[in-house]
Amino acid sequence: MTTLPVLKPGDTVGILGGGQLGRMLALAAAELGLNCHIYAPEKNSCAFDVVRDKTCAPYEDEAALARFADAVSVVTYEFENIPAATSKFLRERKPVLPNPDALEIVQDRLTEKEFVAKLGIGTAGFAAVSSLDELHAAITKLGAPSILKTRRMGYDGKGQASVKSPSDAAAAWEAIGRAPAILEQFVSFEREVSVVAARNVRGEVIAFEPAENLHRDHILHRTRVPAQIPGALGGQAGVIAGKIAAALDYVGVLAVEMFVVDDGGKRRLLVNEIAPRVHNSGHWTIDGATASQFEQHIRAVAGWPLAKPRRLGRVEMINLIGDEVNGWQKYLAEPGACLHIYGKGEPRPGRKMGHVTYILPDGGTSE
Ligand code: AMP
Repeated sequence: MTTLPVLKPGDTVGILGGGQLGRMLALAAAELGLNCHIYAPEKNSCAFDVVRDKTCAPYEDEAALARFADAVSVVTYEFENIPAATSKFLRERKPVLPNPDALEIVQDRLTEKEFVAKLGIGTAGFAAVSSLDELHAAITKLGAPSILKTRRMGYDGKGQASVKSPSDAAAAWEAIGRAPAILEQFVSFEREVSVVAARNVRGEVIAFEPAENLHRDHILHRTRVPAQIPGALGGQAGVIAGKIAAALDYVGVLAVEMFVVDDGGKRRLLVNEIAPRVHNSGHWTIDGATASQFEQHIRAVAGWPLAKPRRLGRVEMINLIGDEVNGWQKYLAEPGACLHIYGKGEPRPGRKMGHVTYILPDGGTSE
């Protein structure tokens, strides 16, 4: 599939995945007059609630996938663990954006890190681990503390075990279920930032400025923009994201998570992870910029020009995790708080239920 269509209002974008990212993509598409068709296996997917067209079927159901492909102009996705066979099946029928080859590279932490390192971009030291013996060898090479991460399916700290000293090796190997993994050097970072960038079919890249992220229990808690980093470093972060997007021949929005490290007084960026989709650290753009990450993604996959978003102030986004969402009335009453609730039902611990965004005058803080 070489020629990509340019969609018109009234056309339909197919989205694989039915979580809050799909929901927010569909809302942004609706504002531009496009329909979305959500394909997700889970019956209670929160994205189903905001679209007209939906398919609830497993990702392996080829008959359902074929009907879905017939019903849409282009296919995109809202989470990265789409089985490779699914995206390949769909690609035979309709354009799949971002391209499934990019997805395959970043679905695996080892190929992802190798890809980034080959571009000459810094990462934490890493080594492949597929047995306890290899883990011992990796610890000898990289030292401790370090972090053992499964190559696939890890997110929000899941599939990770810390190795504080070589004697932790066996326990860490068991903790990740002896799955193929990588060992990463522990980075004692000054702060974490991310760049959310869009690239369109013509190769134009537009990045939002770097956001600064604070995690709690490995889950994003708060995002602040602008990040408290020197302007030149912010520029470098944008260049890194653009370089990665171009090398992946990427169409759509991606996020690149980075560590800022203090290297003897000089700050450097190390790439931690690439998310081949819209990203939690870009939610601030819905209320805090003239065009959101969701609009940018829809524009890119629709073959449209990208927006040139402007930030509307100093922005803070706070995730509502688990039963924090029960404080919704408090946020409703708070002047200037922009509340988003994802409609996910039960607020289980660690589950992202919503977020709230504050647009502040420069120098202000919500606390
Ligand atoms: P990840 O699932 O790789 O995005 O990791 C989740 C979080 O764990 C990151 O946002 C960091 O806060 C922390 N983390 C991951 N890898 C490292 C590392 N190599 N060194 C220090 N902290 C890390």
